[in-house]
Amino acid sequence: MIDHKVRYIVNVLSEAGDQNFFKNILCGLSSAIDANYVFIAELNSEHTSASTYSAVNKNQLIDNFDYALKGTPCEVTQSGVCCVHPSGIQPLYPDDLLLVDMGIEGYVGVPLKNSNNEVNFILVALFERPVEDVLEVESLFLLFSGMILKELEKQSVLEKLKLTDQIIRDSNEAILITDKNTEIIYINKAFSSITGYSLAEAIGKRPNLLNSGHHDTAFYKDLWVELNASGHWSGEIHNKKKNGQPFVSKLSINAIKNEEKSETQYVGFFTDVTKDKIKDKELFQKTHFDSLTGLANRNYLNERLAQAVSQAKVSRSGLYVLFFGIDHFKDVNDFFGFLTGDHLLKQVGSQLKSIIRTNDILARVGGDQFALLVSDVSEPYLVQNFLERTFRLFDTPIKIANNDLKISLSIGVAKFPDDAESPEDILKKSEQALYNAKASGRNIFKFFTNEMQDKLIRRIALKNALKVSIEQGQIEVVYQPIITLDTNKIAKLEALARWQYEGDFISPDEFIPLAEEFGLIYKLGLLVLRKACHTLKLLKGLGWNDIAINVNRSVKEFEPDDCAKDWIAILKEFDLQGKDINFELTESILAPEQKSNLEKLASLQKNGSKISLDDFGTGFSSLSYIRNFPIDELKIDRSFITHMDRDSEDKILVKTMIAMAKSLGISTVAEGIETDEHKKELLELECNCGQGYLISRPLTFEQLESFLSDQL
Ligand code: C2E
Ligand code: MG
Ligand code: MG
Repeated sequence: MIDHKVRYIVNVLSEAGDQNFFKNILCGLSSAIDANYVFIAELNSEHTSASTYSAVNKNQLIDNFDYALKGTPCEVTQSGVCCVHPSGIQPLYPDDLLLVDMGIEGYVGVPLKNSNNEVNFILVALFERPVEDVLEVESLFLLFSGMILKELEKQSVLEKLKLTDQIIRDSNEAILITDKNTEIIYINKAFSSITGYSLAEAIGKRPNLLNSGHHDTAFYKDLWVELNASGHWSGEIHNKKKNGQPFVSKLSINAIKNEEKSETQYVGFFTDVTKDKIKDKELFQKTHFDSLTGLANRNYLNERLAQAVSQAKVSRSGLYVLFFGIDHFKDVNDFFGFLTGDHLLKQVGSQLKSIIRTNDILARVGGDQFALLVSDVSEPYLVQNFLERTFRLFDTPIKIANNDLKISLSIGVAKFPDDAESPEDILKKSEQALYNAKASGRNIFKFFTNEMQDKLIRRIALKNALKVSIEQGQIEVVYQPIITLDTNKIAKLEALARWQYEGDFISPDEFIPLAEEFGLIYKLGLLVLRKACHTLKLLKGLGWNDIAINVNRSVKEFEPDDCAKDWIAILKEFDLQGKDINFELTESILAPEQKSNLEKLASLQKNGSKISLDDFGTGFSSLSYIRNFPIDELKIDRSFITHMDRDSEDKILVKTMIAMAKSLGISTVAEGIETDEHKKELLELECNCGQGYLISRPLTFEQLESFLSDQL
């Protein structure tokens, strides 16, 4: 009888083929055993509930359903034993309400154990009447359970495969698989969209169809050695797309052994990281390089300097830091504007770059300052040679927007380990050496010395003392007579500040820049003006009514909006008129960037004061340029007068200045007349006024009194 039933089920299955296996086997079983319901149920992971995988009621598929296992005969089945009840099942499982609802009398349940002896599925038959041959049912179930299990496993593998296939196909990561000969046997969609190669174009080719030529053969050789040894390689590869565009891919390759064929396949996964690379590069560029000149910035220099110092410590070698400053850069900026200043910085940067070795690091470390790190210097004279070459390089003027700018550099040099042991210190020392080069007249290089260190300490002490002196009114003022050259009569006096520190006179050339740098100059200027007004008042009291006093003002003193108002107010305080006090300023006051200065100058002139352009010829302005500004007087710088008798070029310059000023209605004053020869020549050139040691040194009030009375 059972043979007959088995044959029946097998027939049903073979007629239906692969389609609807579960429906067919369950229907076959149900007919064979005359059960009302037959189903396969899948257990949840905790084995507390079950969901039917497929269920039939009298040859009909029914909707799947879930049920809790507790208190049911299936609870027994899931534990791994067959549960068989020919009849009277309901009283045995009073909590199983489903049995009552469905009117169930008999039950046969078989666990479907997989190869690991685990039960994930059960096969169950429910009968509405008592089962006649319960053993036969059980035997049939056990007989077919193997087949059902195999099919369940097959389905699960297929599901998984479907899923993996979809994952591979839809992955954002490009995937390619090659056979053992590294011929491509599969690529996914992402591969095509990144590289531009379709499946048809890629199949049968080798991955080197992406080769960009960026890497050498050694690179690929190493890759294969590692891949074959460890079964894995990952890294970045510069590849090329179908359209020739290069791209950077982050690639990982796995060698996969195909057990059946005992062959190796290679699976590569990659993403296009070109954009990230560009971003990284841009970020690196931003954080390590100066945006104007493209040179390294201070940060990057510090990094490289730290590396170089550690290396030098190990190799017991030396290194140098050269600190460059463009002389009078501020004047260029003030006078020609920031745009020209920027062009100049770029030009200086690229000229310096053109003469350095590729391994040396040139950085822009501040406004007009550059630093060069020179490592591995075998002979110190090489640095000296380089310095000389640098000076020669800047002998030729730099052309920027129709202007020939003759510039010079000052350079400070410090050496590791002689001058400093730490990277920060060596940079600081080279900067100190630069200050020293500037203080020594510029256009020069200086090696760091310990005296410089002392000077720096002194500078700080001077600054603090200067502040106190200004606050306590301890700046003295001396007066240098300016005479009309053809009459020898005193036309005016130039007020010059004097300061003593610890009993020594400090030159204004030292303390004026200090006052400017530390924001003390405005107060100092007010003090000098007050003292000059006081002196003039005294002179007027002595009957000297026609003498005016010139006070010096630096550009920084013009920064406060109300500077002109403040100065005019001081004149009023002393009951003086505008014509009594003139203002001497340097050319940078006329810079195009300093437009508001012009209004301030105009208000001083409106009040009656004259404006003198001091140290003329040392800056960048030309006479034709100053024509556009309200200048009353030109003071020709001492440097031209000093060499006038020896240097014919200087004499021609002085002559031109005087002639052009005259044509513009501007009067001229020669500074630094030290010899009769100077005076004679200037008279011949029709210079209006003059001052200098020949006429008089700057005088204290007492000395001035006697000087003036001698004039009578
Ligand atoms: P300056 O305005 O060009 O003043 C002329 C400088 O030349 C003075 O130097 C003066 O003593 C010096 N001098 C005059 N005749 C001769 C000469 O025949 N031979 C030589 N070798 N030198 C001569 P000083 O007093 O040392 O002042 C230097 C600079 O300091 C001044 O140059 C001026 O720019 C600045 N300065 C002085 N006092 C003040 C001040 O109160 N305020 C501001 N802002 N600057 C001041
Ligand atoms: Mg002056
Ligand atoms: Mg001067």
